Amino acid sequence: MAGFVVWRRGGGGAAAASCVRSGVSAYSQVPSVARHLHVTMAASAAAAGRSASSISQQEMVIDRQKTAAVLNPKEAPPEKVLLPPDKIGNQKKRSSSSSSKFLLLGKSEEELQDLAAAHGERKYRGRQLHQLIYKNKAKEIQDCAQLPKLFRDSLETAGWSIGRAPIHHVATSSDGTAKILLQLVDDRLVETVGIPVEETPGANRLTACVSSQVGCPLKCTFCATGKGGFFRSLKPHEIVEQVLAIEEMFNHRVTNVVFMGMGEPMLNLTNVLAALRVLNQDLHIGQRMMTISTVGVPNTIARLATHKLQSTLAISLHAPNQLLRSQIVPSAKAYPLEALMEDCSHYFKTTGRRLSFEYTLLEGINDQKHHAEELANLLHHWELGHHVNIIPYNPVADSEFRRPRKQAILEFVETLAARRVTASVRQTRGLDANAACGQLRNEFQKVPIRVPSGPSA
Ligand code: SAH
Repeated sequence: MAGFVVWRRGGGGAAAASCVRSGVSAYSQVPSVARHLHVTMAASAAAAGRSASSISQQEMVIDRQKTAAVLNPKEAPPEKVLLPPDKIGNQKKRSSSSSSKFLLLGKSEEELQDLAAAHGERKYRGRQLHQLIYKNKAKEIQDCAQLPKLFRDSLETAGWSIGRAPIHHVATSSDGTAKILLQLVDDRLVETVGIPVEETPGANRLTACVSSQVGCPLKCTFCATGKGGFFRSLKPHEIVEQVLAIEEMFNHRVTNVVFMGMGEPMLNLTNVLAALRVLNQDLHIGQRMMTISTVGVPNTIARLATHKLQSTLAISLHAPNQLLRSQIVPSAKAYPLEALMEDCSHYFKTTGRRLSFEYTLLEGINDQKHHAEELANLLHHWELGHHVNIIPYNPVADSEFRRPRKQAILEFVETLAARRVTASVRQTRGLDANAACGQLRNEFQKVPIRVPSGPSA
């Protein structure tokens, strides 16, 4: 059966997030799953006499087996892979980070060893703590039964907690994609998406699409996140937390991370870099498996270049010239295309890492043949003519933009290919097509991105 389930803790006003694109680069490599979903969603909608996108969340039915099976084809114990609603509630009650002064999440093994020593323990206790936090996903210090009670108490008395956030809400789709809303310590909600990708047996991928901010100040015209306003940047542990939550939910390690959720990572670069270090060194996710996506923020690309990361830098271009780009992306007025491309060129020369370019295709706006030709010329001019990621627009409520027809998308890709620019088209996964980002986000963002305080359900 096709569909979704939406588990919600409490019924109140709530709030949240977007991640309209949620699947990102993983999409292009999972056409079969995506097609399966689209077909089945459409079929069930047709049976009810409506379009697939009109299926409401309440009507959607969970297919937990599918989510688990994508990554754990043999074991797939669905009840363990996805958190049932009562567990979501328990998590909330168990969280104690709000009253803590210091957080363990985000600390390196060395720092934890030093911390153990400072509490009169042998250093190996710090190594154990590291394992318990990042591998075993311990949520509370008292859960770490392997550690002496004296050490646990001593940490808590000094004001330490692990710092994991409770899950507020989970939506899953029958293609295995899952969206998690985490409730932060100040009751803001942040969204993260897990995208399982079927590969050869034993080599499955799990991509985490993470948020870097609560909301986004840049307000790209077609993007749902910007419509909901901007609240604050995330701290490093709040980014790492998203990956841990996905690993836990899927019972599988995250293999790829893309900063393509809510927010503009380059406006929170210090914390994004700190999170990237933890993800790389403490969760052992290869730098090359991580992508930072930016619409462009003056002076930040050169700053990122100095870090000589192996990660991919993806530029959200969306238009081949300044005039059109500044209409689609308001922040481009202060950071002209010429300056952005110059910074990209400098980045490539400094790091030796090729950039990729994202282009959200909007019907009648930037999807014409002459746009593709101009785009190819632009990339060749700057000697950056490498790879373009085409993202067919995912409709968002209260937006006048439309997704181009399949044929128009194909023609755009062919025009680029004829000019020696390779392009891949991001496939739509379940959460995009439905409650994912359009409906789910809109439901929540009718009220501010904030959970009302008070007793939890
Ligand atoms: N601020 C970063 C991360 C944004 S999300 C950036 O702009 O790159 C990643 C990509 O998804 C961006 O290219 C963004 O423009 C695109 N996107 C946002 N909303 C979309 C929608 N409704 N349909 C298609 N792509 C969208």
